[in-house]
Amino acid sequence: MSARDVSISALSRDYLIFNILTLFPEFFESPLKTGLTGKAVESGVIKVELVDIRNFSENKHRRCDDYPYGGGSGMVLTAPPVFRAIESVKKDNVPLFLTSPSGRVLDRDFIREFSGKEEISIVCGNYEGVDQRIIDRYIDCEVSIGDYVLSGGEFAALVIVNALSRCLPGFMSNASSLEEESFEEDLLEYPHYTRPGEIDGISVPEVLLSGNHEKIRLWRETQSIEKTKRVRPDLYSKYIEKITGD
Ligand code: SAH
Repeated sequence: MSARDVSISALSRDYLIFNILTLFPEFFESPLKTGLTGKAVESGVIKVELVDIRNFSENKHRRCDDYPYGGGSGMVLTAPPVFRAIESVKKDNVPLFLTSPSGRVLDRDFIREFSGKEEISIVCGNYEGVDQRIIDRYIDCEVSIGDYVLSGGEFAALVIVNALSRCLPGFMSNASSLEEESFEEDLLEYPHYTRPGEIDGISVPEVLLSGNHEKIRLWRETQSIEKTKRVRPDLYSKYIEKITGD
C-alpha cells in the first residue's frame, strides 16, 4: 500500500498543539471559539498557544517593523523580536512554518505529511515580508495557501490550523465524511441535497429518492467525475492516470 492509499485520518494523532507567533493575537479570538474549531479547543483535541511577537520587542512603542535595506516600498518584520519569540516556543521535532506567498503550497500531500505531528509552530508574516535571517535561522518550511497575496499571515495560519486539525479523529463528529471528501481519489465531491424536496419548482434529483444505494453511488460517482473534468482538468488528468494505471 502506498502512502497515498492511507487515509489522512488514519495517520493523525488524537490531538495537535499549535503555537502561533503573531503581531495580532486578537485576530484568532473568534475563529477559535466558533463551530467545530471551538469545540475542538474546548475538548482539548487542539490546543492553540498564541504568542504575541510584540511582547518580545525592545522598542518602547512595541514596534516590530523597519525600513528595508536597499530601499523599496513597505516595511519588513524585524528579526530581533521574532528570534526571541521563536526561542520562547522552540522545541526539537516541532516543525516551524512561516506563512509566505513564496512558500510550498498547502495541499493534500502537505496535510498528509504533517498530520501525524503532535505540535506545529507557525510564524505569521506581515508587512512586505520578514527579515530573511528569520527564515535562514529558524524556518523549516515556508507555507503558501495559494497563488495570491493576502495582507497578513494570520489568514493563512488559520487555514493551516483548520486544514490540519479537521483530520484529527476527534475533530469531526462524523469521521467517515473525511473519506468521501473532495480530493480523495483525485476527484471533487458530488453535489448534496437536503429537505425540502422542492423549492421554487426546483426538485432534488430523483435518483436520490430512489432508495437504491448502488444507483445513488453510481450517480454520485458520475457527478464527481463530470465536475472534476469541467472545473479541474488538472485533477481529472491525475484521476484518469490513476485508474488507467499510466
Ligand atoms: N511582499 C510580499 C507579500 C507580503 S503580504 C510578496 O510579494 O511576496 C504580507 C504577509 O501575508 C506575508 O508576509 C505572508 O506572511 C502573508 N501572505 C500573503 N499571501 C500569502 C499566501 N498566499 N499564503 C501564505 N501567506 C501569505
